Amino acid sequence: MYHGVTRKRYSSCYWLLVHEPEFMRQMEHLTRYFNVIPGSRLVDQQPLEPRSTVITFDDGMSSVAEVAAPIMRKLKLPSVCFAVPALSEMQVEISSGNIFDSIVRTKATTLDLTPYGLGKFDIPGDEDERSTIGIAINRELKSRPEGSTAPVVEAIRLQIGSTERADTSPFRLMTKAQLQKLAADPLFEIGGHTNYHITLSSVSDEKQKEEIRSCIDKLTGWGIEPISLFCYPSGRFNAATKTILEQAGIKAAVATTDGLQDRIGDPFEMKRISVGIDTGIYEFKARMSGLYYALMGETK
Ligand SMILES: [Zn+2]
Repeated sequence: MYHGVTRKRYSSCYWLLVHEPEFMRQMEHLTRYFNVIPGSRLVDQQPLEPRSTVITFDDGMSSVAEVAAPIMRKLKLPSVCFAVPALSEMQVEISSGNIFDSIVRTKATTLDLTPYGLGKFDIPGDEDERSTIGIAINRELKSRPEGSTAPVVEAIRLQIGSTERADTSPFRLMTKAQLQKLAADPLFEIGGHTNYHITLSSVSDEKQKEEIRSCIDKLTGWGIEPISLFCYPSGRFNAATKTILEQAGIKAAVATTDGLQDRIGDPFEMKRISVGIDTGIYEFKARMSGLYYALMGETK
C-alpha cells in the first residue's frame, strides 16, 4: 500500500510520501523476486502463482502519475490506483493531508480548537513534534461522525491558513485528465475509494450507497471502467459496506490491515503491506518475505 511518491525528500513525519529512489529500490526488488500481477487477477478466479503481489496506490495523488508511473512503465509493473473522483475533479486535497501539511508548515504558534472539544495547542518549532499534533487531530476527527468535521477543518484553515499553494502541495490529487490518461495505460487499473473520501463506517447505509455509487458512476462517466476493486477510506467499513459494494458490482476490496493476504480469505477485507517514507529497504524485504509478520505478529 502506497500513497504518494515524491522527487523531493520530505521529513519522516510525512509518512505517506515515499521518496523516489527508495521507491525505485523497492520496485526493483519486486521485479527480481516477486510475481507482480494486475489487480484484476485478484478477481478472475484463476489460481495465483506463488509470490503474487499487487501494488496499490491510495487516494490518486498526482505524484503517482508524475513520479511513480514512469518507474512502473520502465519496469513494466502493473498497479492499481484508488481514486476519489469528486475531490480530483475539484482539485481539493483530502482533508487529513491538508490539515497535516498546514500544521507542519504554519507560522502560527497556537491553534485553539476548544469550541470543538479538541483543546488548545501550542505549535512547537520542531517539525516532528508538529506532525504529532497533526496526526492526533486527524485521528480524533476520523472518529467523529462524517459531516461534523467540516467546521473544525474550516477553523484550522482560518487560524493557521494553508501555507502552500495547492499546485505545489505534495498531497495534490490527480486531475480528471491525469486519471483518464493513467487508466488508458494497460499497466494501470483504477479502483474506487468513495467520491469524497468519506469514512464509510460513520455514515448511514443510504449515504454509504450514495458515496460508493457516485464514485463508480463518475469514474465510469469519465470512460474509466470497469471499476471492480475498491479501497475503504481510512480502512473503515462495516457489514453494510460489503453488501453495498457487492451490489454495486465490486469484486474485491482492500483494507488497511497490515499483513500478507492468504490465498483464502475474505475478498472484501484484503490485507496489505503498508509502505511509508520510513520503510527502509531491509524492512521492506522482511515485510515482503513474510519474515517481519512472522516475527512481529500481524497487527492492525
Ligand atoms: Zn485514502
